[in-house]
Amino acid sequence: MEFRDLKKQYQTLKPQLDEAIGKVLTDCNFISGKQVEELEKSLTQYVDVPYCVTCGNGTDALTMALKVWGVQAGDAVFVPDFTFFASAETIAFEGATPIFVDVEEDTFNIDPAKLEEAIERILQEKTFTPKGIVAVDLFGLPADYAKLEKIAKKYNLFLLEDGAQGFGGTFQGRKVGSFGDLATTSFFPAKPLGCYGDGGAIFSHSLDTTEFLRSLRVHGKGSYKYDNVRIGWNSRLDTLQAAILQVKLKAFEEYELQAVNHVAKLYTERLDKLVKTPIVPEGYTSSWAQYTITLENREQRDSLQQALKEQGIPTMIYYPIPLHKQKAFAGLTGQLDDFPVTEKLCDCVLSLPMHPYLQIDEIDIVCSAIQKFLK
Ligand SMILES: *Cc1c(COP(=O)(O)O)cnc(C)c1O
Repeated sequence: MEFRDLKKQYQTLKPQLDEAIGKVLTDCNFISGKQVEELEKSLTQYVDVPYCVTCGNGTDALTMALKVWGVQAGDAVFVPDFTFFASAETIAFEGATPIFVDVEEDTFNIDPAKLEEAIERILQEKTFTPKGIVAVDLFGLPADYAKLEKIAKKYNLFLLEDGAQGFGGTFQGRKVGSFGDLATTSFFPAKPLGCYGDGGAIFSHSLDTTEFLRSLRVHGKGSYKYDNVRIGWNSRLDTLQAAILQVKLKAFEEYELQAVNHVAKLYTERLDKLVKTPIVPEGYTSSWAQYTITLENREQRDSLQQALKEQGIPTMIYYPIPLHKQKAFAGLTGQLDDFPVTEKLCDCVLSLPMHPYLQIDEIDIVCSAIQKFLK
């Protein structure tokens, strides 16, 4: 059994993928081929935003977005404590200070009430200038953008949606990628929409911002590549990856997103009475980057993982360490020291095999193994 079966996906989409890859090899338009622009157009249509700028990976996408607001030393940017490192790393990379905020136990996403408390505290302490919020759509479920957009407006902060895991998820009829002032995503192979290497994108509502981002990704170009109007860098999506993503986006829209939702439903039906299963609140849909159950304590979680491993069932712990406890952030000032939900989740979560090609007999094997262990 595979945790995320990319081999089965390739076998299913092989004719279309091979043709798309073959065309790039024949044309040798490896950089900035027309497939890149075509993909950007398809992505804007899917997410329903006016502009999309693809780039090298999801981390670059975050970094480029932070450049739009000139995030710098002395700024505070609020970010969930329970997420992948890059959500906060990129803030620190700009010299600003990530301020960690605890998450909600049911959704795994940033807790709006605790976010507001953190903003008030930073305003009172006057050490940093509150500048923005990076919200994460963890495991495929969008954050609470109704509340987050209000808070951002109230305190005049930018709101950046880190949708690296959320592509395809929705909230109140809007798709991931459309929330906040800017949104980013990642096409890392294991994400809901993945390519065959690194890739990422930024979604924007403003032409000016889009032109700035397009310039930034190619050495701060002006009217053309050798006219350089600002310091930028090099972060393009390869034509090959764009061609692959066009094929995969079609499959994603036509059946893959539906398929992962079906897998999640079957898991929940079978596990609901045994363990805490993931919750998708009213008004939301998830793209199921992960299907994550919560055990009672670390010991139970670790021994379940071991028992499953012995039966050939792969699982993952996303994430074992809260961001505020990462060595790279040691000594960071301005932090709270109280993150009870994140600390608990890091001890108790376990992500099960999840992908659109998971078969019902595989789901049954995973669920009976969990049932047997808990008895
Ligand atoms: C994967 C991920 C990123 C980084 O994306 P890359 O394409 O790997 O650079 C950022 N944020 C979150 C929440 C992620 O899961």
